[in-house]
Formats: sequence, C-alpha cells, structure tokens
Amino acid sequence: MHLLDQIDEWGRKAPDRPAHISSGRSMSWSELVNRSDLLASKLAALLPGNRAPIAVVGHKEPEMLVGFLGCVKSGHPYVPIDVSIPPERRERIITIAAAALVLDAAKITELAPAGATVVRPDPALRVGDADPYYIIFTSGSTGEPKGVVITLACLQSFVDWTLDEQKIAEAGEVFLNQAPFSFDLSVMDLYASLTTGGTLFSITRDEIGNLRKLFAALAVSGITFWVSTPSFAQMCLVEKRFSTGMMPAMRTFWFCGETLPADVAAGLFDRFPLAQVWNTYGPTEATVATTSVLIDPVLARQSPLPVGYAKPGTAVVCLGEDEKCVPKGERGEIVIAGPNVSPGYLARPDLTANAFFKLDGVNAYRTGDWGRIKNGLVFFEGRMDAQIKLHGYRIELGDVEANLRAIRGVYDAVILADMKNQIATSLVAFVALAEKPAGDQEFNAALALKEELAKKLPSYMIPRTFVFLESLPMTPNGKADRRKLAEFLQRERA
Ligand code: AMP
Repeated sequence: MHLLDQIDEWGRKAPDRPAHISSGRSMSWSELVNRSDLLASKLAALLPGNRAPIAVVGHKEPEMLVGFLGCVKSGHPYVPIDVSIPPERRERIITIAAAALVLDAAKITELAPAGATVVRPDPALRVGDADPYYIIFTSGSTGEPKGVVITLACLQSFVDWTLDEQKIAEAGEVFLNQAPFSFDLSVMDLYASLTTGGTLFSITRDEIGNLRKLFAALAVSGITFWVSTPSFAQMCLVEKRFSTGMMPAMRTFWFCGETLPADVAAGLFDRFPLAQVWNTYGPTEATVATTSVLIDPVLARQSPLPVGYAKPGTAVVCLGEDEKCVPKGERGEIVIAGPNVSPGYLARPDLTANAFFKLDGVNAYRTGDWGRIKNGLVFFEGRMDAQIKLHGYRIELGDVEANLRAIRGVYDAVILADMKNQIATSLVAFVALAEKPAGDQEFNAALALKEELAKKLPSYMIPRTFVFLESLPMTPNGKADRRKLAEFLQRERA
C-alpha cells in the first residue's frame, strides 16, 4: 500500500480522532486528510507539470502537517523549515532547494481552509518510490546548509521497520513531538503517528522555554509514546513531578540523535516503572534511525549504552582505513547500507561522492562516526570530524566558524565544544579580531558578534563564550591548533 493510502485511511476509520494537538488547538483526522487533499489539488493547478520541492515554513501549527501531505500528494517533495532558522539562512535553503513555492500556515489556510469543499487530487500525481519525499537541511562544514534527499522508498523502509518493532496500537497512541519539523527526529513521531491513526502532540518552543507551561501541557497530553532527544528527557527529569503520576499513559520512551546517558535511562526506569526505554541511532542521511535496542535495567548498567542492532534488510558495518570491515569488536567508521540510505545531497554531487557509495551494490553512507560492533550490537564511540551534537542539535563547527569569519573585522575564528563528561554543553569561540578589544570591551565585542551571528544562524549554533586572542595558535603545517585551544579551555575550566 502507498504510504499516503496508509495515512489517508485514518480519515475514514477515525475521522473525529485528533490527528494533531498543539497549544490547545486540535485538528481531526478528517480535517487533515480533507485539507491536504484540497491543498494538493490547488498545488497541482498552480504548478502544472512541476515536481520541484516546496518549502513549508512554520513551527508546530497543524497547517505544517497539511502542508507536508499536500505537497507529496501533488508530487512535490517538501522542505520543512522551522521559524527558528533566521531569514538569511532560510533564503539560502530555499535557493539551494530551488523551491517552486514557499508555504506558511497563512498561505496553506488561504489555499485549503478548514471546512471548504474538498477536491480530491489525482492519485497519479503523488510522489513515487524513487522520488524525493522530503529534503531536510543540516549543518554543512563550509557554512552552507546541505539538503539530504529522502525518497518515499527510504521513508517507507523506516516506517515499516518501526511499525513492526514498536507494536503501535492503531488509532490508540499519542506521540510526543518535541523536535521541530526541520530535524529528522520529528519524522519518527510524525510518521509513526500518521500511519497508525495516532495523535501527534506537539510542544512549542514557547512551552519548552517555560517549564511551568511545559509540564502543564505534558500533564494533560495523554502521551503514550515519548519521542525526544535524551537531552530533553534529562531536562524533564529535573522536575520531581515528571513521573507516572503526571503521565499515567506513558508506555514507551523512544530516543535518537545523541548519546543516551545511562543515568537518564535509570532515571526513567525509576519514574516510569512500566514504560520501555529504546535507544536508536542513525543520521538524517539514512532516514532517522538504523539501529535500535530495548534498554533493560541490566543493559542500563553498561556505560556507554549500546545504540542497537541493525534494522532488518540494512547492513551496519565498521570499516577500517583500508575500506575493509575491521575484525569483530574492533573500532572503525560506521557505514550504513540499505534501502533507507538517501540517494545523496541535493545539487551537491561533490559532497554526495565523498559520503555515499555502493557497498555490494547497495546504497551506502559513511557516517563519520567511530563505532564498534559486538555480537551484532553497535556501540557509538564519537565523531571522526568536527561535527558535534549540542542538546541534540547537529552542528558542524566549520559552519559556525565560516559564518563568524565572514563578519567584518573577524580575522580568524575557531569553535570548540565545551565538554562535560564527554557531552557537549556549549560552544566556545576563539576569535582574532583585526584589533583585539581591551579587557573591558570584550563583553561588548562578544555581544556584537553574537548579534551578527544571530542574523545567519539559529540560536543553538551561537557560541556562549567568546575568547579574544591576538592571533590563533598554529600547528607546524599552518592550521589552527585546536588541541592547544582545547588544552587552554581545559585549564580555564579546571
Ligand atoms: P542527525 O543527522 O541530526 O540525526 O545526526 C546524526 C548523528 O547523531 C550521528 O551520525 C551520530 O553522530 C549522532 N547520533 C545519532 N543517534 C545517536 C545515538 N543514539 N547515540 C549517539 N550518537 C547518536
């Protein structure tokens, strides 16, 4: 069955059940299916014969879901863009995607208002197996975001696996949606919910920024499936009331995107004794997640926790420098090969050729992650390059550096992650300005740089600390000496 039929059938089977809830606003399944059908018909009329990507800009409005489905029902892949991405970067993304149209909640409502007469789109128009279904932009090391193309076949492969593994009750679950839709973690909750007639419960950045509002929303949510970064669950655990008492229906915690600390798993076992905790691992380039494991209290004694077993039909191997599999249990680069691996980066054959290749004739992706496989269980052992995860967000340090260097007066810049217990806690910028600010001017200089960066980068990419130097230390071959800067940081933190 086509994924879109799998989704649309809930419009008939559970028309009145909420498909989406956010900020107290609820959209029923019949409304979602009808409005996305109408939007698709309108898009087909507006853009005849066109199958170019469409950007869908917004936050957690129900119209985001209408927009995504309306696009793919009319043959267009969608590019989700969260409003936290500043306008300059949004424009870059829209240009790189060569988007045929930009939709936001207002435009979607204008084209497909609730309650309007429904016009069903021609099913022949919708995206096919090998067509791009969505394009998610991630941080690129040169300061330019890169678009990961995910086809319908990639997404279907991911969805089939999760539905099989998670035993999701039809028209019975409520999924937490924490991640903005421009991050592929959100695909996990969005499509698990859409294909099973579930309810997606989105929390907004306003709620996340205000713990009183957040816990008030969670307490009435009825969430059964929790999908978030481990960082977010860790933050929630600080609140004593965050427990079965507050969320009695909770049955599964489903994590991806960054290291799941053993003490977070242990905290969840303690507060939610009847719930399962799953750790999953994978990059956007291989459609959300590729490995998974149910963490039981015995496994939770291991630190670091394993990231799981490969999903059926997908190979996860560790390659050595000679491009051959390393002996069992030894460390190598994690490579993923299978139907969930993206065909590559949008309009970037150079980046695609570096990271994607064929392994035994199958699409494969070099993750840049160090890993080890023991008895089929994959362990993540950090990055091989300057990509990091900060509170669950993927950041290429080179992206921040390039944007910082582009600011007038910045002569050179290096970004390091401040680490605590091997987890990044914030970014530190080492900056050489054309003129080093006097001690009492450093605060203002840092503020000015933060303001400039905020025009180009989302807030999670802005360094918290700025260290001004006359010049950056160099290695003998003329590169910025990151090790020396890291040692400097360690001394400062000691
Ligand atoms: P993203 O494309 O944002 O999902 O980021 C992918 C990267 O996040 C991977 O290449 C890993 O470096 C990291 N990652 C994803 N899942 C996990 C996990 N369960 N444990 C540790 N790191 C993870």
